[in-house]
Amino acid sequence: MAFHLRGTVLPDGVVRDLWTLGDSITFQRPSVPADTVADGGFLLPGLVDVHTHPGGAAGDEPAFDPEVFAAQITAHRDAGVTALRFPGLLGEIPGELREAPGSPRMITAGRWLAWVGLSRSAAFHTVTDDLVASAVAEAKAHDGWCKLMGDWDFEAPPVPYELLRAVVEGVHAAGGRVAAHCQSAAGVLGAARAGVDSIEHGMGMPQECVDLMAGHGTSYVPTLTAFARSAPRIEDTARGRLWNEGHRTMIRRVREAYDAGVTVLAGTDSAPHGNVAAEVLHLIDAGLPSGTAVGAASWTARAFLGLPALAEGAPADITVYDADPREEPAILHHPRRIMLRGRIIR
Ligand SMILES: [Zn+2]
Repeated sequence: MAFHLRGTVLPDGVVRDLWTLGDSITFQRPSVPADTVADGGFLLPGLVDVHTHPGGAAGDEPAFDPEVFAAQITAHRDAGVTALRFPGLLGEIPGELREAPGSPRMITAGRWLAWVGLSRSAAFHTVTDDLVASAVAEAKAHDGWCKLMGDWDFEAPPVPYELLRAVVEGVHAAGGRVAAHCQSAAGVLGAARAGVDSIEHGMGMPQECVDLMAGHGTSYVPTLTAFARSAPRIEDTARGRLWNEGHRTMIRRVREAYDAGVTVLAGTDSAPHGNVAAEVLHLIDAGLPSGTAVGAASWTARAFLGLPALAEGAPADITVYDADPREEPAILHHPRRIMLRGRIIR
């Protein structure tokens, strides 16, 4: 099946004709007939949410529900999200969904790994006394990523630096990457020093982490949407004040990290699924240039996941918008056309 699209291709900003042949993009007019499905507008390689956890079943015990998972990745897709990273999933991606024609591209990191020494584990954590071996195994068993809890309780110490460093060395030696959940100043500092590949959340991030992240090539996924949602509900207690201070600090660090050359990426960590456009707006509020914030949820995030953007031979994921999202980022909520794996979704 061949399709033709014409519009302003981002991030280059050049008006071009492009065609899709099956699940492949070409800028050369094909010899087969191709329906024109977009003429005008702004073309992106789709949106990306690099931090989302679909599939959680309702109930007291954490459980994976394949039907919920399917519905939630569909919600992402129908919002124009063509690629997803799951830094923590309660179960395995159902095989028939992973490469289904209507499924966004998916990168999973397996379970949430928690070092046995963290003071109190959550029910969704997979607690291990051999964090290095578990992290290497998760990265090998999934898409090259593992997810670990760098800390958990605000009051308790994080994973010791030496152990975190051993995890990073072990996973990197196996060709994998490490995503670290951090929500305390000490936790973020340990992860930044250890050179993890992505810091998730980063509440209360000490200033020195910015240069450490830039030096290690660590990406930053602040998940501002999730924190903005919780902020109004935080009570005026010692813990609440710590939370609020950490939240304000992480917002400042987003811009400082960008200025230092850190790749900042868009992840929602939150329901409703399919809401990564809101994260782009939060990143802009935090001081990211709007074009950079759009890239954080599109071409930059694809590069981070090893997926090309709108290039010759690239996978045929394309979303089309009536306005330039770099000028009007809220337009990301309203894709006019969604193409995934070379098929028209909308
Ligand atoms: Zn999360």
